[in-house]
Amino acid sequence: MKKIIVQKFGGTSVADTEKIKNVAKLAIKEKESGNDVVVVVSAMGHTTDYLVKMAKDFSTVPSSREMDMLLSTGEGVSIALLAMAIQAQGYDAVSFNAMQVGIITENVHSKARIIDIKTDKIRNNLNAGKIVVVAGFQGVTEDGEITTLGRGGSDTSAVALAAALNAERCDIYTDVEGVYTTDPRVVPNASKLDKISYEEMLELAHAGANVLHPRSVETAKQFNVHLRVRSSFNSENKGTLIQGVEKMEIYKPVAGVAADLSQARLVVCDVPDKPGTAAKIFGSLAKENISVDMIIQSYARKVSNTNDIAFTVDMSDIDKTLSALKKLKEDIGYEGDIQVDKNIAKVSIIGAGMIDRPGIASTMFETLANLDINIRMISTSEIKISCLVDKEKAEDALKALHKVFKLESDKTADVKGDLPQV
Ligand code: ADP
Ligand code: ASP
Ligand code: MG
Repeated sequence: MKKIIVQKFGGTSVADTEKIKNVAKLAIKEKESGNDVVVVVSAMGHTTDYLVKMAKDFSTVPSSREMDMLLSTGEGVSIALLAMAIQAQGYDAVSFNAMQVGIITENVHSKARIIDIKTDKIRNNLNAGKIVVVAGFQGVTEDGEITTLGRGGSDTSAVALAAALNAERCDIYTDVEGVYTTDPRVVPNASKLDKISYEEMLELAHAGANVLHPRSVETAKQFNVHLRVRSSFNSENKGTLIQGVEKMEIYKPVAGVAADLSQARLVVCDVPDKPGTAAKIFGSLAKENISVDMIIQSYARKVSNTNDIAFTVDMSDIDKTLSALKKLKEDIGYEGDIQVDKNIAKVSIIGAGMIDRPGIASTMFETLANLDINIRMISTSEIKISCLVDKEKAEDALKALHKVFKLESDKTADVKGDLPQV
């Protein structure tokens, strides 16, 4: 039986028909080397951003079902064009959307998780000698409702398909040469990593390094998918391999740094200090499928016996969070307001090498202090330290941390895509 290779191409890689021709060539090259090829594509260029912008002209909180109907159309365009481009080069290809394949997700709109993938249709078409092109980002519920996997979710479609098909490799082709020590658009002399562990990559992705969708890394780790990030525009470069930590030798305490500018901080003020309050607050957010990141509860005030609970959520979840919290007001009996602060950013340092190595956190705090940056919240895991800072300080913080942990390269990174204009 032939080996299956899953290739994924992001928006920049399919931004226009010339670039789609280039993608067709890369798929054909893989097929010519004797493998079966499944190609997952995102929407062209900044299509998804434009679709979001149009929806926001009607409402700040458009129906999440209709948002999924709208956003899933972007990938529908690129799969058909790519299949045509492959056919035009004399090879057999067929495109499928998530509904046709059977990429089954839970019944949640805008950030659904994949629960099953049917592989029959793909396998039959591979066996018939075709290159199979599949829409990323989309899913379908058991009842036939269209869902999407969350922004950047095509990476997860590709890795989940690779796992379901027991693929030899999943290559994520993008507009940079691989995973870098930080975003090379912000720090041009960031170093490209040849390898990174699943665990570090997962933390980096959660910390805002959007080169990979966090759930793609989670899925790759769970199913041991051989995952590589590489450039669509320089396919000779081997990119970055994401693999199990046991195979890695760790020299540096910090492997990478990241900044996440997409979060907002909410503070529920004067909450009664009694058992069950936090459970009610975060339970109600969980019911609405809102992910909470950093959480801090202040000491109880002696006189009023109340405290404040501060936490961060994704900016796109602010309205949903506020409405969930308002519904709880009577039940919990909190007296104060809910404060919302959008002017924040989370900067993080990540590295398996920081385990059992004292002094890493203090170096981070000292670096921020030297820049006169106030730390507003801190959270840690075994291999990550995150600090919440004012948004306008994030870039300086990132650059200084990248430098202090000696992550710089003497080369300038090659970055191809442009930033969205919307
Ligand atoms: P695609 O459209 O191919 O999915 P994305 O824009 O989602 O591409 O991801 C690639 C981008 O991720 C890069 O252009 C880069 O600016 C950004 N990025 C952020 N952090 C990193 C990092 N540590 N390494 C590489 N790229 C990063
Ligand atoms: N097109 C979707 C987005 O822009 C999914 C993806 O690109 O991975 O978020
Ligand atoms: Mg992406």
